[in-house]
Amino acid sequence: MIMPVEVIMAEEVIRSTNFITQIIDDDLANNRCTKVHTRFPPEPNGYLHIGHAKSICLNFGLARDYNGECNLRFDDTNPVKEDIEYVESIKNDVKWLGFTWSGEPKYSSDYFDKLYNYALELIGKGLAYVDELSPDEIAKYRGSFTEPGKNSPYRDRSIEENFNLFEKMKNGEFKEGTACLRAKIDMNSPFMCMRDPVIYRIKFASHHQTGDKWCIYPMYDFTHCISDALEGITHSICTLEFQDNRRLYDWVLEHITIDSHPHQYEFSRLNLEYSITSKRKLHLLVQEGYVDGWDDPRMTTISGLRRRGYTPASIREFCKRIGVSKQDNNVEFSALEACIREDLNEHALRRMAVLHPLKVVIENFPEGKTEELEGINHPLKEELGSRLLPFSREIYIEQDDFREEANKKFKRLVLGKEVRLRYGYIIKAERCDKNENGEVTCVYCTYLPESLGKDVPDHKPKGVIHWVDAHDNADVEVRLYQNLFNTPKPGDAEDFLATINKDSLQIIAHAKAERDLGKAHKGESFQFERTGYFCVDNKLSTDELKVFNLTVALKEDSSKASV
Ligand code: ATP
Ligand code: MG
Repeated sequence: MIMPVEVIMAEEVIRSTNFITQIIDDDLANNRCTKVHTRFPPEPNGYLHIGHAKSICLNFGLARDYNGECNLRFDDTNPVKEDIEYVESIKNDVKWLGFTWSGEPKYSSDYFDKLYNYALELIGKGLAYVDELSPDEIAKYRGSFTEPGKNSPYRDRSIEENFNLFEKMKNGEFKEGTACLRAKIDMNSPFMCMRDPVIYRIKFASHHQTGDKWCIYPMYDFTHCISDALEGITHSICTLEFQDNRRLYDWVLEHITIDSHPHQYEFSRLNLEYSITSKRKLHLLVQEGYVDGWDDPRMTTISGLRRRGYTPASIREFCKRIGVSKQDNNVEFSALEACIREDLNEHALRRMAVLHPLKVVIENFPEGKTEELEGINHPLKEELGSRLLPFSREIYIEQDDFREEANKKFKRLVLGKEVRLRYGYIIKAERCDKNENGEVTCVYCTYLPESLGKDVPDHKPKGVIHWVDAHDNADVEVRLYQNLFNTPKPGDAEDFLATINKDSLQIIAHAKAERDLGKAHKGESFQFERTGYFCVDNKLSTDELKVFNLTVALKEDSSKASV
């Protein structure tokens, strides 16, 4: 009898492994949890940046890899700085990155009633008190890393009194800054966050979700752990600056009546060279008009990167490559660029555009005649077909691609020498016109009619240059970008605004591109041959004028690209 042969298809699991996946594997193996449930908890006080992308890819990636769930939770406990605009932009960016949250988006403010009751529970247990020291006094009493703290004179109020005063705080009977609720832990703790942390403060501010219902708001450390527990989060992953706060996270959950006790794990923040990963500082750039909004293509916000031409896949790949650890995570900008370059090399159609046009007249080409030459759309993907390129007696080439004299290293057009036009003929420069400043204004050439797509004996042009027909083309605007900052670590500078690169945007108002680029869609990306990858700006482009953003130059060292 022949036994049936089981063919087991190896399932392709491309899963990152890091110290957190080791913890999860161990938790699952030892039944400490049966399902993985993570959350991404942004504060809606700005747009997301590339650092958040790391946290998004980690949290949503774990949920995907372990068949679990990941919540999107707005950590909205500070109504003064938060806004619904940010809530919407964050949802949009997470979706755009390719992730789906579990159920509806959650808000810490959904739990304000419950949080209030947990605060009452702590008061009832003698573990929280209303303090009437001023914020300055509280700071003074807290001590320092070298000095122990001092008890507040209000620390030993009766439970009864604390209930009454907290009620008054809630009813708006105290002015902002005149009272707060503090956890009663230990003013001598070596961990500053355990020296009777404030857990509720007064703010007479309208909240984007709860309106004017509350004038007391819970603090992050009190809110976060309880929100995690209420949502059944198993692994609460945050960045290393919260390492000490883990003690407080655990303390709160240990002293209230709640079913679950999630665990917090910390990883290192991403610092990307030449960029800022702090919403507060990004805010300043926008507010002070250094950039054209949160989605300015020079900003390493998710929306800026999108407008610049970055794809979700390239950002996810970047996050995968940088990995997750507790070590400092300082990453060169070229690592991000490599990811988008690889993606666009594979997916972007090839086109020709001349950024700094120089007229070329081909004198032996008949006047009034136009040929249609064929250019393939992608050298590695024949199935993407080709397009027709009008070619007539007058064309444009890049100013940089012509010299009256040059040494052998210059493999472009030189007087008396030949060069091949991309997808076209061999031409030879015969003479040129110059203006009063000595700048070349027109080059006169001859072409070899028998050279289309063929070598010609005794004619061996050294290089190939791109070009665009002078009459049948699209006028486009091209925007070239450099780093927004002059220094690799602008975040460390005393005044980061002083490190702004004033030349980070160069606008070329009249570039000449292949005609179909005039009809390209917003957000579409192309490789401009020999120059770089460009994307149609989704804000500034109109039906009449397309604006192209340089996403990334073709080669790593952009100074070598013929931009
Ligand atoms: P910012 O300083 O930009 O306001 P934040 O940490 O206050 O950053 P949140 O909105 O609270 O911003 O962040 C949401 C999540 O994203 C948090 O878990 C946070 O740890 C994570 N995160 C923020 N910045 C980075 C970064 N540079 N690298 C990795 N994760 C980050
Ligand atoms: Mg924060």
